[in-house]
Formats: sequence, structure tokens, C-alpha cells
Amino acid sequence: MHLRNFGNRSGFKVPPANIGGMRLPRDVKDAIYLIRYAIDSGMRYIDTSRGYGESEWIIGKALRDGYREKVILSTKSSPWIIKVRSDDQPDAATIRRRIEESLQRLNLDYIDYYQVWNIASREHYDQAVRPGGIVDGIQQAIKDGLVRRTGFTTHDSVENLKNYIKEADWCDIILFTYNLLNRRYQPAIQAAAEAGIGTLIMNPVGGGRLTENSPVLMELAGQVGAADVPELAIRYILSNPHVTSVVSGINRPSDIDHTVAAAEKPLFSPDQMQKINQFLEARGPENSGYCTGCEYCLPCPEGINIPAVMKCVYNARAWGLLQAARQQYKKIDIQKRAEACTGCRKCEPKCTQHLAISEEMRWAAANLTEENKENN
Ligand code: SF4
Ligand code: SF4
Repeated sequence: MHLRNFGNRSGFKVPPANIGGMRLPRDVKDAIYLIRYAIDSGMRYIDTSRGYGESEWIIGKALRDGYREKVILSTKSSPWIIKVRSDDQPDAATIRRRIEESLQRLNLDYIDYYQVWNIASREHYDQAVRPGGIVDGIQQAIKDGLVRRTGFTTHDSVENLKNYIKEADWCDIILFTYNLLNRRYQPAIQAAAEAGIGTLIMNPVGGGRLTENSPVLMELAGQVGAADVPELAIRYILSNPHVTSVVSGINRPSDIDHTVAAAEKPLFSPDQMQKINQFLEARGPENSGYCTGCEYCLPCPEGINIPAVMKCVYNARAWGLLQAARQQYKKIDIQKRAEACTGCRKCEPKCTQHLAISEEMRWAAANLTEENKENN
């Protein structure tokens, strides 16, 4: 794979497709084989975390025998997500402990990137950058030679992110969510790239949803010359000029082969990107008569989580992602699913989109449930 500038701040270069360390195989030998297979296939940046089970430990083993020098290794921690010790705080002392521990788990002398894991609010950001906070701790580790660079991962609002990007002269890279079905962060990705920050994309196939060759998305793939939906998904992201690279979870050698093959295909032209964006917009919930998730219909007297059920209906019908919708439906609390609907229609006058909610509940109960029973 050809290399791309990893933003303008670090001077590093990365290929367009890289290794996500969150869902490695459970068998350690298999996982080590797979990581080395990915590196031998041209992947270079590895994203892991103190919170990804034994991922750091396994990656450390995979990076022996000359593999360390071939990669850019990134790990991260967050006192907001996982307190490794009960007294972990968003401060410099805690992050120093976490960095030293990650170095031991990885069996390395230094980490290329140590990131602040999941800034999800202004409060998180302020805690990270205050004097004596997480960023101060990472910068001290950089001075001490334990870490080379830093950045953050995020699920915050686009507006907040644009403000952080203006302030964050300490930040070299940001890891965003962005895919065919979730393009919310596009303006923040652009702002980061224009500020010289490297932009990484996690979950390029939408947590597995975009590995399903839905008839709807296959139609789009055909229009722009992509062989299948996963290829369409990866090429779409990499054709955004503000994206540096994707980080893909690896579980089988074929995951790596497909991702690398897609990343080596030509980028979509501006005309093709326009065609794809128009296709996606036309099927957005507000443009295609589906639920927008506004929650005005709540509460349902039976306690049904109407927006969550409607989202499954939307994914199944508007995108043809029936298997993904069934998986998503399984995750809804059993008492809050469509099967509890009595058809009272008290929700319908409150619906901002004038949807026939009771009919949609019947559809969900009939189409999303039977498969669940079979799979249980
Ligand atoms: S029609 Fe169904 S979803 Fe709507 S309020 Fe009645 S029980 Fe709840
Ligand atoms: S009011 Fe209508 S559009 Fe809003 S969440 Fe409920 S069903 Fe969806």
C-alpha cells in the first residue's frame, strides 16, 4: 500500500489501512500470526488500548523478532472508561502509571502514540488539558522518552470537536467514527485535517453492518464500480480527502486481505463521491419517511423503546441490512421490544414524522423477532 502523510505535525507516514487491536482472536498463537500477517501485508499503524483485554500483551509478543521496527504502535487509556485502580483520576500521576504499565504489558521501551481515550464532552476535554491533567502527564512522558506523540479518540459533538481542534496544539492525531451510514463527523474530520492533524477512522464497516451485501447498497456499489459493500465502504472513507487512514478490526486473514485489496483500489472521483452522497442523503431517515429518533412519541404506556425499534426497522428496510437489524434488535431490552405493542396508537399523534408507529411495531415483531428465536 502507498503511504500517506499522517497529518503535518508528526512527520510519520502511514498506509491507508491499519490494524485495530480490539477484536483479536482469543487464541494467542492465532492472534500473533494474524498481527504479523497484517504487517507483512502492508499495515503499519496498530491501535490498541489498556481496555482491550489482553490486546497489549498479545501485540507485545507479536512485535518481537523484528516486527517492532515495522510499525507505529498506539495505545490509550481513560479514567472515564476504565479505572484500572479505584483511585485513577484524569490527572498526570494516573496517566504516568498507565503509560508505565502499558510499556510493561507491551514489553516495549517506548510507545509511538499515547492517546487520551474517548473525549466525549467538554468536561472531559477540560480535565484532559488542565494543568496537571492527562495531557501534561503524556507530555512529561514524551520528554522522558517513553512516548513519542499524542492525540485523542472521541465520541463528542461536532461543534465541541471543532473548538478543541482550534485549541489542541498538543494533538497530532484524532480517531473518529465515520462510515457510509454515519457521516456525522465529516465537518470535524475536515477541520482536523486542515489543522494538520492526522485523521484515523475506526469501524470503517460500521461494526460489521457493512459486511452484509444488502441489495440496496449493492445497487450503489454497482453504480460506482465497487465489487461489494465492504469495498464500497472502505473506498468511500479513503476517498474523502480529509481522511488519512482507516483502522480495521482483524479477526481472520481474509479480513486483512479484503481491507488491503479495497485500500489499493483507485479512489472514487469527485463525481462518484457526489453520486454516493446523493444516494445516501436520499435514504436518510428524514428524506425517506423513517424515524428521526426525536423521541417525541415517548413514553409508550407499555414501555416500548419506540425509537430503538424504529431504528432497526429503518436499517432493515431502507438499507436492506436485515441481518444487522436483527442483531441490533436483539440488544433492545426484551420488555421494550415491539412484541409488547397493544396497538393503542397513543404514540402516533405525537410523532413529528406522522409515522404509522403501531404498524411498524407489528412489522418489527414479525420480521425482526422470528429470526431471533431461531438464533437463541
Ligand atoms: S401503539 Fe404500541 S408503541 Fe404506540 S403507544 Fe401504543 S403500545 Fe406503545
Ligand atoms: S416521534 Fe416519530 S420520529 Fe420521533 S422518535 Fe418517535 S417514531 Fe421516531
